[in-house]
Amino acid sequence: MGQSMADVGRRAFVCGHPISHSRSPLIHRFWLAELGLAGSYEAVDVAPERFADFASHLTQNGWVGGNVTIPHKEHAFRLAARRDAAAEAIGAVNTLWLEKGEMIGGNTDAYGFAANLDAGAPAWRSAETAVVLGAGGAARAVIVALRTAGVANIHVVNRTRERAAGLAQLFDSGVGAHAWHELPGLLPHCHLLINTTSLGMSGQPPLVIDVAPLPTAAVVTDIVYSPLETSLLAAARRRGLVAVDGLGMLLHQAVPGFERWFGQRPQVTAGLRAHIVADLETGR
Ligand code: NAP
Repeated sequence: MGQSMADVGRRAFVCGHPISHSRSPLIHRFWLAELGLAGSYEAVDVAPERFADFASHLTQNGWVGGNVTIPHKEHAFRLAARRDAAAEAIGAVNTLWLEKGEMIGGNTDAYGFAANLDAGAPAWRSAETAVVLGAGGAARAVIVALRTAGVANIHVVNRTRERAAGLAQLFDSGVGAHAWHELPGLLPHCHLLINTTSLGMSGQPPLVIDVAPLPTAAVVTDIVYSPLETSLLAAARRRGLVAVDGLGMLLHQAVPGFERWFGQRPQVTAGLRAHIVADLETGR
């Protein structure tokens, strides 16, 4: 009672439908506390038919911006007055902020993917050939990151080959589409293998791949982070390959949004990671 806006600080959100599974509040609240900032980050369940109204009344409802997750990312892309280059390339918005009263949309997934590999396997930037498993929204962000880093050859391998072809078409001739059965033939020349399918995630079937044909210097990463150690990563480590889990992508993609809303660039630290890992271990 009687609290002024100055006491409460800036208010940011993550909105989706459903939203209770989101770990974003844990990440942003950790940083708010660590940096001693008076602000808040709230999870808001917004049904699809209410999203346009929600997004057009941010200032009136006291928000400085927030994250957008499934199923609103494409809708947010269409509603934004302007979008950053990553959002344009990915075709979806996961971060909203206000500039001179206008709602601006960004996408931080490609940044998060690249920053995670920079931390865990810096040699990934010299990869010439990458294999991307999956052709959904996350795969598009990963391909944008690979293209930005200069990876010359990208093979998209997907259960539904037509979907891989549709995704590859959005890019230049360095991105090709393949059916799943073509994977063994691609692995001997693959410097970077990335799983972007939902296979291996808790509650989903496992991702079973023979990693034996990969070169000894190959890097393997999985953007699934629950469980943290997927069967793909375990198989890669058993073979002595560098393997990077997907939690870092989630943590790093949160950095640019926090900086825009709260004015300070937070760090992805071992302490933050341990905080989220502890939550993952509760098995939600
Ligand atoms: P999506 O658009 O629904 O795409 C799912 C992909 O998985 C498609 O390529 C689909 O193939 C494939 N797939 C699903 N079930 C399969 C099965 N039984 N066999 C073979 N392939 C199967 O999902 P998304 O948004 O791209 O997300 C994919 C995963 O990435 C999710 O697990 C998500 O949690 C994770 N993710 C992580 C981060 C992070 O920060 N670490 C960020 C974004 C997403 P078809 O095309 O044949 O259906």
